[in-house]
Amino acid sequence: MESEIMLLGLVALGGGLTVALIGLAYLLLRLREAETRLHEKEDQHQGILDRLQENEYRLRTIIESEPECVKLQAADGTVLEINPAGLRLVDAGRPEDIIGRKIYEVVAPEYQAIYRENMRRVFAGESVVYEFRSTTLKGRTCWMETHAVPLRDARGEVYALLGITRDTTEHKWAEEQGRRHQTELARVARLSTMGEMATGLAHELNQPLAAIANFARGCIRRLRTGEVVPAELIEPLEEVCEQAERAGEIMRHVRDFVRKSEPRMTAVDINQVVRSVVKFTEHETRQHETVVTLQLAPQQPRVWADSIMIEQVVCNLVRNAVEAMAETRSQRREILIRTVPHDGDIVEIEVVDTGPGIDETVIDNVFDQFFTTKTEGVGMGLSISRSIVESHGGSIRAESRAGGATFRFTLQAIPVKLSRDERRYSLHS
Ligand code: ADP
Repeated sequence: MESEIMLLGLVALGGGLTVALIGLAYLLLRLREAETRLHEKEDQHQGILDRLQENEYRLRTIIESEPECVKLQAADGTVLEINPAGLRLVDAGRPEDIIGRKIYEVVAPEYQAIYRENMRRVFAGESVVYEFRSTTLKGRTCWMETHAVPLRDARGEVYALLGITRDTTEHKWAEEQGRRHQTELARVARLSTMGEMATGLAHELNQPLAAIANFARGCIRRLRTGEVVPAELIEPLEEVCEQAERAGEIMRHVRDFVRKSEPRMTAVDINQVVRSVVKFTEHETRQHETVVTLQLAPQQPRVWADSIMIEQVVCNLVRNAVEAMAETRSQRREILIRTVPHDGDIVEIEVVDTGPGIDETVIDNVFDQFFTTKTEGVGMGLSISRSIVESHGGSIRAESRAGGATFRFTLQAIPVKLSRDERRYSLHS
């Protein structure tokens, strides 16, 4: 009996131990699982950190190698970050020369109010583009343009301005040059109208001169009768004075008009003239969806000319072609400008378009003063162009074909040897 109880006790103890062992094994297993999961989580976390770092590194590399200035600014204008291009832009030798300082230190005084207003707009959530004059840390003056956007934190609050700034000084300078060029063109247009104006002026001068003659004759007639009261002569004589003054006024006007009338003649590369016209009519041609193609003969001899005047001719022809194609809504809008090689002593320039062409009945009149078929036209472009070309010893003509119009003009080429002499002269002068 006792031994049976002992046996039973042993069995019970064995069973308990087994259950305890199984429990322990289970716990160990869970522990290992938890450990594995923890390792996996750590790996994942590390992976995310690595990727974040990689991204940051990549972004920094992009920003640092960006040729434009990229910068972050606080609401009060403090520069928070700036890339090397930005340092160069403001003439800062080291980052600390500008980081932590106010951007207003490099904004010209007259642009500070505009700059502040733009910063206010960005911190109110707008993206803005603004231009300003800058005085760099070394006192250099330049023009800058900034594209600025707001940077937001996780809650959507704007905490900084991200600005990309570029130096627009050269662009501004080119604009200014363009304006000067236009003024110069206008001057030339005025001068080259002189020929056409002569007829009109002769007519205008005729009137006061005829009036003077009439009043003077009237006075003589009355004096001859011997019955004239001197006071009666005052009025017609005053009229004579007035008309003489009017004639003087017309003459003064002519003098003003022709002042600086000396054309500036130099050895001109006609291909260069064509290229520069294409450049300053680019805006217009692009606006009217016109494709301009150039076929410029290499090694063209130079022409002795006032380059601005010749530009004016090419410019008139290009504008006319653009307008003709736009007015008739031509499907194909193409302008071909060619400089045609010639053996002899002339240089020929052609402007070919794909417009409506010119009606046979009016083709002989297109160069006449005031001839125009346009509602807003004045009809001076081609007549001025002809005066210019002819005053340079050349000729101009118009042709019409099924697919458009062609204007062709010639200029006298400078013999090659002379051209070299001229170049040498201009180099040493
Ligand atoms: P405007 O352009 O002011 O009318 P222009 O002297 O430049 O004066 O031209 C006179 C006219 O010649 C134009 O009104 C037009 O009828 C005609 N013309 C000029 N160029 C072309 C062209 N490329 N295609 C068709 N017609 C043209």
